[in-house]
Amino acid sequence: MKEYLEKFSAEVRELIAVLRRLAGELDYNAYLVGGCVRDLLLGMKNLDLDIVIEGDGIAFAEKLSAHLGVKVVFHRRFGTATCFIHSHLKLDIATCRREFYPEPGHLPVVSAGLLKDDLFRRDFTINAMAISISDPGFGRFIDLFNGRSDLNNKKIRILHNLSFVDDPTRILRAVRFEQRYGFRLETATLSLLKKACQMALLEKIQAQRIRDEIVLILKEDDPLKPLKRLKQLTGLGFINKHLYFPDGKSRLLKKAASTIRHFNRLSPLRRRLEGWVVYLTALLDGLSSGEAKKVLNKFVFAKGVQRRVLSYIKESDKIIRVLKKPQIKSSRVYNLLEPLSYETIILIKAKSSSSKVRKEIDCFFNLSGFMRLHISGCDLNALGIKSGPCYQEILKKVLNARIDARVNTLDEELALASRLAKIRS
Ligand code: ATP
Repeated sequence: MKEYLEKFSAEVRELIAVLRRLAGELDYNAYLVGGCVRDLLLGMKNLDLDIVIEGDGIAFAEKLSAHLGVKVVFHRRFGTATCFIHSHLKLDIATCRREFYPEPGHLPVVSAGLLKDDLFRRDFTINAMAISISDPGFGRFIDLFNGRSDLNNKKIRILHNLSFVDDPTRILRAVRFEQRYGFRLETATLSLLKKACQMALLEKIQAQRIRDEIVLILKEDDPLKPLKRLKQLTGLGFINKHLYFPDGKSRLLKKAASTIRHFNRLSPLRRRLEGWVVYLTALLDGLSSGEAKKVLNKFVFAKGVQRRVLSYIKESDKIIRVLKKPQIKSSRVYNLLEPLSYETIILIKAKSSSSKVRKEIDCFFNLSGFMRLHISGCDLNALGIKSGPCYQEILKKVLNARIDARVNTLDEELALASRLAKIRS
């Protein structure tokens, strides 16, 4: 398997050499595990490296952090640490653990263990392979559950019959990996997954754990695929009983994907969209604002996410109606869209089939972020206008005039500001 390690970039190989040396100094065994091994075998790039240590993972991370001088976040309660090597290379270090589920769907009781315990607690055979990165045995491939064969046969397989009962979030993970790689759920796994769904196990666990997996699904390159598969296997009632998935919703999600791509291509310098928030909003499209609120509260989505989703649910139809009107002033469009997030606006664009609406939104994006007045409060002061709330009002009116191209230059802005001040006094 040493030849597989060679497939990593020079930078990752250098990092592995450091990990090997430190493990030797501490007399620990260290292994690469999980998704990075899976993707290495698939020939796919994955810069989220998971390392497990037979020994003290925290002590190992402390030594690594001192050695590399990089930022490390410790989760001492769980015996794990995350090392940020640089913006896109991340290392998760954990002590090998043994898990025991005292009750179905509850969090497991954890104790230190050996590599085999750590692999046995994992979700699927394809995620339960390891490569030793310490001596002796550097480069040894460890595949206790035939993950490599399942990878070759494109199968998602659980490790034991109680896997979905122990942790129902694996239902969502199974569908995510199946659809991401174009694999199939192995027959017994599929039948156990269906049984777990019939037992409504997804509704019996902590909602935040479900939320985290929903977000991971929405962060996939093509979230429509796992969502459709989930609809087929479990329905989406575990999110909300009124949530249905008609063909129109697939169309909206597809349109959202192409609208996001278009936005990111044309606006590389602007802040990137949080695509998953757009997809979440699309998923909840069609719910009343009361039901949407229930979903957002139940899954404890952050306030900023709630605000973005709800503003779409409450305002999208009205905004589309207004933007359809002929000869609407640019300033009206600007003031209508400006308070909304880009995620909300992108989905409004995706939802509307009117080319007029889509054009108005594109014009807004062209203006937004670049529209700056030449004048500011200091200029109003210099004009002798008494300071107060009127400053904001005057600057807003001048801005609207600028957007509508009624004023263009500094002098024109100053002249308008002074006329407006006179009218007020
Ligand atoms: P991705 O490419 O989506 O990041 P990943 O396999 O790296 O996939 P993570 O969610 O980062 O997924 O989890 C890392 C590893 O931890 C997995 O490969 C798997 O072995 C294990 N794991 C994660 N969640 C579970 C779970 N609910 N039950 C069992 N093992 C899990």
